[in-house]
Amino acid sequence: MKFGTKTVHAGVTPDPSTGAIMTPIFQTSTYVQAAPGDHKGYEYARTQNPTRAALERSLALLDNGYAASCFGSGMAAIDAVIKLLKPGDEVVCCNDLYGGTFRMFTKVFAKYGIRFHFVEMTDFDQVEAHINENTAMLWAETPTNPLLKIIDIEAIAKIAKAHNLLFVVDNTFCSPALQQPMELGADIVVYSLTKYVSGHSDVVMGAVVVKNAELDEQIKFLQNACGAVPGPMDSFLVLRGIKTLNIRMKAHNENAAKVAEYLKNHPAIGKVYYPGLASHPGHEVAKRQMSGFGGMISFTLSQDNEANALKVLSGTHLFTLAESLGGVESLMCHPTSMTHGSIPREERLKAGLSDTLIRISVGIEDADDLIADLAQVLEQVTEPVSTGS
Ligand SMILES: *Cc1c(COP(=O)(O)O)cnc(C)c1O
Repeated sequence: MKFGTKTVHAGVTPDPSTGAIMTPIFQTSTYVQAAPGDHKGYEYARTQNPTRAALERSLALLDNGYAASCFGSGMAAIDAVIKLLKPGDEVVCCNDLYGGTFRMFTKVFAKYGIRFHFVEMTDFDQVEAHINENTAMLWAETPTNPLLKIIDIEAIAKIAKAHNLLFVVDNTFCSPALQQPMELGADIVVYSLTKYVSGHSDVVMGAVVVKNAELDEQIKFLQNACGAVPGPMDSFLVLRGIKTLNIRMKAHNENAAKVAEYLKNHPAIGKVYYPGLASHPGHEVAKRQMSGFGGMISFTLSQDNEANALKVLSGTHLFTLAESLGGVESLMCHPTSMTHGSIPREERLKAGLSDTLIRISVGIEDADDLIADLAQVLEQVTEPVSTGS
């Protein structure tokens, strides 16, 4: 079955009790038992819920994984994956990491004796150099946030296999529509479903997709034992969002390509970070491992100072100033003060994240309107052309 068909049908069957085409919202905390232990496979809703189960089946099929488990947020999903480790274990991860993930690794799990090394993962020697006898896991996010660096999943998977390490990919920026990490050798794929997968900025949720039964058993154990499960209403909303995932991602790809091209040629713009541009250092790898370049773009201004960045951040009409990404509406954000505020400034600068960087999540509006919105705000920060008089 092709991907677009899967988004509409995978994991979802009409409700056997009523014939309802859409999976009902099973808003219940518990299930009747005819006699102790005599039940229909559902005992308590932290452990199993039919709406959540349909979503998990769908997600597993979209990634060609063995199984998926959903969590109350992307962070809760990441939390479960790190809980596969034990004190003394070490993780090698990319340095341009989602701010919340960096915070969890350094402020929560470091306390429990797990060590994290943040390395430039486009440089395989750096990855190898940080692997030792305690290393248990490699962790990559690609494209990275907010600099949209491209990490070669297949190459990192080879390193993971050679050292017998678990390889985790946070695929939030691509969604399974644009990138299939498991096909490229990842063992575990994590998502913030809050972003592209649900796609309508109306739900917070996360998922862990695994490649085999052993990992599924461990993650399902943690899902039930630690209890960070999503509710049935939210599970329904994500299931509904998935129906349009394939066509939404195509619209994001198309719009972002047009916006990136426009920005690249604008005199008020300094650098444009978009993997779809031939000038992007990760363009060739992106072409190989992604079926589209996604909807995220970051840029700096040619007159790169805080006052100008502020003008742009507060002067657009269609691009709303807000954290998050991946919804149908376009958003703009200032990583330094918003999404990446939890990363110390020197770490940010070391990773190449300047104080004036602006990140946009290009929505599915008409590209002409989005470009007009950027045009009016960029005009305010363009140096007037000298008339020579
Ligand atoms: C948003 C995000 C997360 C965290 O997900 P939440 O649903 O907000 O908890 C993790 N990784 C990436 C790449 C994200 O963009």
